[in-house]
Amino acid sequence: MSNPSILILPGDGIGPEVMAEVRKIITWFGDKRDLAFDVSEDLVGGAAYDVHGKPLADETMDKAQNVDAVLLGAVGGPKYDDLDFSVKPERGLLRLRKEMDLYSNLRPAQCFDALADFSSLKKDIVAGLDIMIVRELTSGVYFGEPRGIFEEGNERVGINTQRYTESEIERAARSAFELAMRRNKKLCSMEKANVMESGILWREVVTRVAADYPEVELSHMYADNGAMQLVRAPKQFDVILTDNLFGDILSDCAAMLTGSLGMLPSASLGAPMANGRPKALYEPVHGSAPDIAGQGKANPIACILSFAMALRYSFDQGAEADRLEAAVEKVLADGHRTADLLGEEGVSPISTSEMGDVIVAAL
Ligand code: ATP
Ligand code: MG
Repeated sequence: MSNPSILILPGDGIGPEVMAEVRKIITWFGDKRDLAFDVSEDLVGGAAYDVHGKPLADETMDKAQNVDAVLLGAVGGPKYDDLDFSVKPERGLLRLRKEMDLYSNLRPAQCFDALADFSSLKKDIVAGLDIMIVRELTSGVYFGEPRGIFEEGNERVGINTQRYTESEIERAARSAFELAMRRNKKLCSMEKANVMESGILWREVVTRVAADYPEVELSHMYADNGAMQLVRAPKQFDVILTDNLFGDILSDCAAMLTGSLGMLPSASLGAPMANGRPKALYEPVHGSAPDIAGQGKANPIACILSFAMALRYSFDQGAEADRLEAAVEKVLADGHRTADLLGEEGVSPISTSEMGDVIVAAL
């Protein structure tokens, strides 16, 4: 049997820097755990624009459709700010998400013990936190029609439409229930069924899907209360399922429970392929961070933890994902910090590449 395949798209800014550290990790798994991957690499974002005149070449799109998982660094940067909208670096990422039909966005918010002091919240609120937000990514108010700015009488009106079909809700719900089954069998669905029709349908469909997962304890919460609970007592949650708009806000809110942008991974999953694996793209939550690009300051952990998610969700290597996460935990506990994680006095930062090295050593 051939090795599982990964397409690496480092992108722009700190993307290539953090991805170089993921490469070290991938090599380690091949050498030491007999877990070899067929890795190919290609361009996305500004890097692709520089070569192809567009942020994602068709050949790259084809490759992405045919590998087991895509790992992406980050796209964009000031060099590309004045480009036409249709060729902006971000469009490369949007095209990947759209054509791969990645409807389920998984964003964990996990607080490593060593960083609990660093979080913006009181330590007892976040220590040991480990939750996962599942955000519907391809529909809802960001896509619904009609949309636009229209003339109405003697003034203009801006319109967006929150729109969800039953099947869109159902597939997102299924991916959240599947995830809940692999975790602690607890799922909280958030909408505003008190004031929104789409929320009423959302609650109805999620409740129906729940019948297929009798072991999962399902609860519903209005999203505004959810935002409050997320900050007040986040450990009451395990998996949270929500729509595109609320998920955008709630996942950023949850992210900040844990400390730095440099720590946060994500996965975007679509329908199962012929081999049973979901279409999948893994990327750090952070952007290309032009302010620190090229200086060896970037924290590679978000990208490395994104690879851990790939091990778990694309390659069925949960134990190896645990191993990698434990290695990250260990280097943090040992006091290793990139500049973004510095809080304590008297600790001097290590570089991107040194962080990769200590994680490999911890493995
Ligand atoms: P995007 O629009 O792509 O989301 P952004 O401008 O919103 O990008 P980032 O590029 O993520 O945000 O950068 C926000 C801030 O966080 C910057 O100051 C950046 O230096 C810092 N930052 C982001 N990622 C990292 C990282 N991996 N390590 C260290 N600092 C980071
Ligand atoms: Mg941003």
